[in-house]
Amino acid sequence: MASFNLLLLPGDGIGVEVMGEVKKILDFMTKTGMARFETETDLVGGAAYDAHKKAISDDAVKLAHQSDAVLFGAVGGPQWDSVPYDQRPEAGLLRLRKDLEMFANLRPAICYPALAAASSLKHEIVEGLDIMIVRELTGGVYFGEPKEIVTLENGEKRGVDTQVYTTHEIERIGRVAFELARKRGNKVTSSEKRNVMKSGLLWNQVITDLHKREYADVVLEHMLADALGMQLVRWPKQFDVIVTDNLFGDMLSDVASMLTGSLGMLPSASMGIADAKTGKRKSMYEPVHGSAPDIAGKGLANPIAMIGSFAMALRYSLGLSDAADLVEKAIADVLNSGLRTKDIAGPGVNAISTSEMGDAVLQAIQKLAR
Ligand code: NAD
Repeated sequence: MASFNLLLLPGDGIGVEVMGEVKKILDFMTKTGMARFETETDLVGGAAYDAHKKAISDDAVKLAHQSDAVLFGAVGGPQWDSVPYDQRPEAGLLRLRKDLEMFANLRPAICYPALAAASSLKHEIVEGLDIMIVRELTGGVYFGEPKEIVTLENGEKRGVDTQVYTTHEIERIGRVAFELARKRGNKVTSSEKRNVMKSGLLWNQVITDLHKREYADVVLEHMLADALGMQLVRWPKQFDVIVTDNLFGDMLSDVASMLTGSLGMLPSASMGIADAKTGKRKSMYEPVHGSAPDIAGKGLANPIAMIGSFAMALRYSLGLSDAADLVEKAIADVLNSGLRTKDIAGPGVNAISTSEMGDAVLQAIQKLAR
């Protein structure tokens, strides 16, 4: 039986509650022999600050390096608003991203048929939607130098950010997108603004060359980022994998996520560099949502984003696609059965709690696994 080391970092607020529901599924899979999961649990965010005066300990970072995948809940909360900047809860997340060199952010936007009515777009436009946005996470205008506000001789100020990409950075994110497309609908849409940006021109050339050299079996199209924003709300089902830079990816993935309804439904993954020998990538899986202090401790959190993140780990880091299919099918079945947490319950629908939703998904997995 395949055996995997997972590091669980529940974090703060509802992070702890939603991770508890993933634990139930992990235990079930281990008990029934689907896979053996060895788990370590550690602190991150405000919880780590309270214990160590650091948003993540060096030991926890070491465990992250040794793990096959990290499952991350959420961090933050008003009680840590006044801690020193370098130790604020988000610093734990940023340190992990940096130390594990996670340059690729994967954000699926899946619209379960049962929730299509909850989208702000028409039912037929979003029902069955399944796209994956691959965003470059460590380069581009958020990190390029110079990055400054300077005072000019006439007393006016000038703010400067620098959009910069190298061949190597574009190639490695392109590879992630093409590899993913091969496991999905076999199509990549690469997006930039080559009409007005030199970095966009280079992006376009590098992706085109990489495609020709190594991925000619995948369908590639190029679309300007503004046109893509428009197409995402006009006819999103035309897309399979979208690959784009840090800035455009930030915006386009938020647009795409809203096609699908609640924040409580959205998983994500971050991937690092592939190991030269094994080809395995360092990786971390987390819901898109934060620690939701307004509902923390009340049993109101929707655990599906966290459970969906675990399904992504099964698929993309552990090579357990059948188990991933099982979890994703179980989520769809539960939604089809009409069960809803408060965030996705329409008017007049009785909502169930975090643990009731987790139990319902587990029961659906058990039923499918029979
Ligand atoms: P949030 O995502 O925590 O919450 C936004 C709204 O969505 C809230 O009303 C919340 O109740 C609701 N919500 C979020 N997840 C939900 C779920 N699973 N089920 C049901 N409802 C859900 O964002 P925020 O309120 O802006 O931030 C709260 C804290 O989380 C802040 O400290 C922020 O810095 C932090 N944060 C952390 C992360 C992270 O850990 N990756 C991401 C975003 C925000």
